Amino acid sequence: MSNTLSGSSRWLSNSWFEPGPSGLVELRDVDNERGGKETRKYWGKLYVTVDNAGQLAVVNAVPEDKLLAGLVPAEMSASSPPEALKAQAVAARNELLAKIGTRHLTDPYRLCATQHCQVYAGAGREDARATAAVQATRGELLEREGGGLVDAVYSASCGGHGENNEHVWGGTPDAALRARLPKFAAIGDAELRAWLAVGPSADGPWCARPKEAQVNFRWQKAIDVAALAERAGIGALRDLVVLERGVSGRATKLRLVGDGGDKEIRGELEIRRALGNLKSAMFVLDLARDAGGHVSSLSATGGGHGHGVGMCQVGAVGMAAAGKRYDEILRQYYSGAHLRKLY
Ligand SMILES: [Zn+2]
Ligand SMILES: [Zn+2]
Repeated sequence: MSNTLSGSSRWLSNSWFEPGPSGLVELRDVDNERGGKETRKYWGKLYVTVDNAGQLAVVNAVPEDKLLAGLVPAEMSASSPPEALKAQAVAARNELLAKIGTRHLTDPYRLCATQHCQVYAGAGREDARATAAVQATRGELLEREGGGLVDAVYSASCGGHGENNEHVWGGTPDAALRARLPKFAAIGDAELRAWLAVGPSADGPWCARPKEAQVNFRWQKAIDVAALAERAGIGALRDLVVLERGVSGRATKLRLVGDGGDKEIRGELEIRRALGNLKSAMFVLDLARDAGGHVSSLSATGGGHGHGVGMCQVGAVGMAAAGKRYDEILRQYYSGAHLRKLY
C-alpha cells in the first residue's frame, strides 16, 4: 500500500494498493452479481478513487493479457481444441479493446466489471490452456476490410444459420457480421421447420458436429401458456404469429392475439424472454387450442443457443477438431476480416 485514505473525500488523492510477492491483491466484501459479497483477487495494482457520481471506486489496473486469461475460460471451455481457444482469445481481445474509449468517458476507469462492459470476477479462474491461447495470439486483432476493429461478437451456437447483426440489434448492417446460410434465400415457417428437423451429424454444419451439438444444435421447450398470458396482459391467448424473421429464420417480430387485444413483441432477445427464456429465436411454434379457441398448450422447436451473430463457438470447436486454424475460423465467421499483430 503506497498511500492511505485521507479523512476528507473532497481532497482524496488516488490511493494505490500494490500486490505482494504472489502478484495478487485481495479485496474483501466485493458486491457480486447475485446480491452477495465475496473475496476476490486481482492482478496488477488496485487504486481507490472517486467516480463521477461521487462514490468511492476501486479500480484494478490490470495488464491486458492477465485480464484476457481470466476472461477466455469464462467464455469457452478450456478443454476446447487449442485453435478454437485462440480464435476465442482474439475475439475477446477485439471486444475488449473496442469498448475502451466508448463508455465511462468521465469515470476514472475504462471498463466496469459488470454486464455493461465486461464481467470480470478477478484472478484465480485462469486455466493454463486458455492462457496459452492468449499468449500465442498476443497483440493480434481482427481488422475489417478497409481498416478498423471488427465488432467481434460471438454466441454459443448459431444452429447452423448465422444471423445478420441488424436483425438482432437493429442499426445499420455491418459488412463483417453477415449470416452464412447453406441454401435459403428467404425463410418462412415451412423452410425453417424442415431445417430444424435436421439434427446433429458428423457431416452437418460445423456446430452440428462436436459433442456440444447434442444440447445446442436443436432443442425443444414447452412454454407455460398461463404465465405467458399473464405477462402479456391481453387476456386468454388465442394465437401467436411470427410476423418477421431474420435471414436465418430468427423471429424478430411476434404477435400475440388475446381475448383482450393484440400485442406485438419486437427484437430477438425480447421475444426469447417473453416466451420463457428460449435458447434462441430460431424456432417454430406448435400450439393446441381448447374447445373455446384458446391456446391450451404451446411448444417451441428451435436451433442454436444465443443471438447467432459473428462467431459460433461450437462451430469454432467443430472447425478446430477438423484441423482448421484459428485464422480460418475467424475468417469463416467475420466476413472480410483479417488478423493484424499490433504489438
Ligand atoms: Zn461499463
Ligand atoms: Zn454454428
